[in-house]
Amino acid sequence: MGGGPAFTSLVGNNFGYLGLPVDTTSADSPADVVVLGIPYDLGTSGRAGARHGPQGIRQASAHLRWETRRWPWTFNALERLRVVDAGDVEIVPGESEQMLDAVQQRAQAVFAAGKRLLSLGGDHFVTLPLLRAAHAVHGPLALLHFDAHTDTESSENSRYYHGSMFHRAPREKLVDCAHSVQLGIRTEYDPLQHPYQVIDAAEANDLPVAEIVERLRERLGHRPVYITCDIDCLDPAFAPGTGTPVAGGLSSDRLLKILRGLKGLQLVGMDIMEVAPCYDHAEITSLAAATLSLEFIYLLADREQQG
Ligand code: MN
Ligand code: MN
Repeated sequence: MGGGPAFTSLVGNNFGYLGLPVDTTSADSPADVVVLGIPYDLGTSGRAGARHGPQGIRQASAHLRWETRRWPWTFNALERLRVVDAGDVEIVPGESEQMLDAVQQRAQAVFAAGKRLLSLGGDHFVTLPLLRAAHAVHGPLALLHFDAHTDTESSENSRYYHGSMFHRAPREKLVDCAHSVQLGIRTEYDPLQHPYQVIDAAEANDLPVAEIVERLRERLGHRPVYITCDIDCLDPAFAPGTGTPVAGGLSSDRLLKILRGLKGLQLVGMDIMEVAPCYDHAEITSLAAATLSLEFIYLLADREQQG
């Protein structure tokens, strides 16, 4: 293990998403989709605990294993795509720069090998190195961002803050704001200075799903799309296990329907962030995250069939 971190986080496990075997060599393996856990939560401003998100989501994914064709899809995604769980990125406790490098390195190897990446966080800050990795291979990304918060604070005094990534991403030219959308927003931001199109939580709850989907498809277009999902996009009734919950969010049903509407888009990666199992009840939040993850895999498998 020469060159690797001398001491890494003890938050890890040996069973994979959907019970898949954990294969840390997955960048080289013949997988189509790679699942990667990122147990880091030093960027949180409210309650910490998202470092246990990957564990919780993998655990809850056990409830999704018995169905061979996920409803309402008409095929088994795992017969179309080879999915591998690459385990967790090794995080050296307290070393945020190391985390940034390690996440980008692992993710970029996956993208460079032509595979799609499903990342399980971790606090939302880890989306920044994921976007850097996706951008390095795919160029400027159309970002679809589900969240209660815009995460666009300039954070001059806080380099690793989980509310700052989407301020930095356009400045690093990782994402193209003209083709990006934030959905589910229900906390303050300045609409006059804001570079992203916003479908706020009230609109997202009131508009017909078909209309939301149409707006998203029009905006994201035929570009490489990266989906980042802060689980607090969901209402605390559907996702209590998270660091900064905000009432008035989406139901898991509505978010699943919106995702399902993205069939055929050029999806390069998705992440599910901010699941903090220590505040969860009956695996509500982890199960929602595991199910959204599976929906993403079905979207990829559906496109596979279209060619
Ligand atoms: Mn949030
Ligand atoms: Mn967020």
